[in-house]
Amino acid sequence: MSGPLTTEDAAPSAALTTAAAGPVVELAAGRMAQVGSMTVQRLLPQRPRRTVGAWCFADHMGPIAVRSPGAVGIGPHPHIGLQTVTWLLEGELLHLDSLGSEQLIRPGQLNLMTAGHGVAHAEEDPGRANRLHGIQLWVAQPEATRDGAAAFEHHGALPEVELDGAGATVLVGDFAGSVSPARRDTEHVGVELTLRGPRVTIPLRRDYEHALTVFEGRIAIEGAVGEPGLLAYLGTGRDEVRVETDDAARVLLLGGLPFPERVLMWWNFVARTREEISEARRQWSAADARFGEVRSKLGRIDVGPPPWE
Ligand code: MN
Repeated sequence: MSGPLTTEDAAPSAALTTAAAGPVVELAAGRMAQVGSMTVQRLLPQRPRRTVGAWCFADHMGPIAVRSPGAVGIGPHPHIGLQTVTWLLEGELLHLDSLGSEQLIRPGQLNLMTAGHGVAHAEEDPGRANRLHGIQLWVAQPEATRDGAAAFEHHGALPEVELDGAGATVLVGDFAGSVSPARRDTEHVGVELTLRGPRVTIPLRRDYEHALTVFEGRIAIEGAVGEPGLLAYLGTGRDEVRVETDDAARVLLLGGLPFPERVLMWWNFVARTREEISEARRQWSAADARFGEVRSKLGRIDVGPPPWE
C-alpha cells in the first residue's frame, strides 16, 4: 500500500544522503500523498534526509474507516532494487506477488518482499475489517543484491523485548539483544515500541543514524514533540535516546548505517541511473517477463515515461 514516488518526493537524480555527524532532533512533517483510494502521510523520503540507513521510503496509512469493504486495495505494480516492509496496527491486507505468494497480513506480522532484479505485487483489501492502520516501508538494496533474485517472506511471530516503561517488537535487525529472523541485506533496524511512560530510554547504536515516527499518542524527544505525521530524525552517535510520554504511545524506530551508495528513486523503482529506471518502466509497460504476473482481481497499474525521457 505505498508508492508511487513522484519528483515531488525525490529529485530525479542520483544522490547520496548525508547523515548528521552527531546527535540531532530534526522534526519533519510528512507529505500527504494519494495511494489508490487512500490518503497517506509520506514520511520518507524527505529533503534533505532522503534515507535513514537503508530505509528510503515510509507511508503511514490511516487510521481510517474503511466504509466500503474491499475499497483500499492497490493493483499489480512492479518494483526493483528494494524490499517492501508492510506492518499493520489494525485491519487486514492480502499480499499477492509474481512469485506466487498469497499471504494475509494481520497486525503484528511482518510482510517482507525483496524485489531484486524485479517483482510485481498487489495488495487487496479482503473486505472483513472496517478500519486500517499501518505503515509500508521500502529498504534500498545494496549493490550486492539489488540485481539478484526476488523473494518473499512472512513472519507471524517476532522477538519481543521488555524495556523499563516500554515493550518492543523487533521487526528487522537486532535490538537490545534480540534478533529478528527477517532477511536483512544491510545493517539496519526497525522496532515498534509501545511506550507506557512516563520516561523511556531506548538503546541505540552509535554508528547508526536513527529516526522515530509516532503511530499513536504524543511523545517528547529532548523537548521536541513527536506526533503522528512527523518524522523525528535523530542523527548518529547516540547510545540511547530518552523519550517521554504522558499516556501510552506507539512509535516506530528506524535506523541503520548511513547508506553508502547513491540512490535514484522514481515511481516504484529504486536504482542508480536513469537508464535503469527507463528500462524497467518500458519492460513493465510491455508486460515483459522480467516482472512476472500477479493473480489479482485488481487492475494492473501503469505509468507514462519518467520526466527525463
Ligand atoms: Mn508496492
